[in-house]
Amino acid sequence: MNQETTIFDKILSREIPAEIVYEDDLCLAFNDINPQAPIHILIIPKKRIASLAEVKDEDAPLLGHLLLVISKLAKQVGLESGYRTVLNTGTDGGQDVYHLHFHLLGKRSLNWPPG
Ligand code: 5GP
Repeated sequence: MNQETTIFDKILSREIPAEIVYEDDLCLAFNDINPQAPIHILIIPKKRIASLAEVKDEDAPLLGHLLLVISKLAKQVGLESGYRTVLNTGTDGGQDVYHLHFHLLGKRSLNWPPG
């Protein structure tokens, strides 16, 4: 699974365009092409990890980094009143793209429980 390329590899390599909102050595963040809220950003590691089910102990610093980036991004895009961070995993989790990614959703009231 880790060896399979996805559409996100093409975004990372700039083969296909995306509205990039943040980048550093470890990760890239860009607007979702099909936003489910006024703010809908995807945050992906540059390392190819298929899903949360595939992470290894050595990925702990990277996973922590992604969450810190999300926290800072949320402030930058003005999500003072809150936001939701989603990580879909596997078929039952509703994962469509098998390159680990967090969704950052905000600027509307989000329902709970999710569908
Ligand atoms: P998942 O269902 O795997 O958790 O989320 C995949 C997300 O990637 C979806 O929200 C979908 O809209 C988004 N997505 C799929 N293809 C592209 C693309 O080519 N560009 C961008 N920006 N987002 C995409």
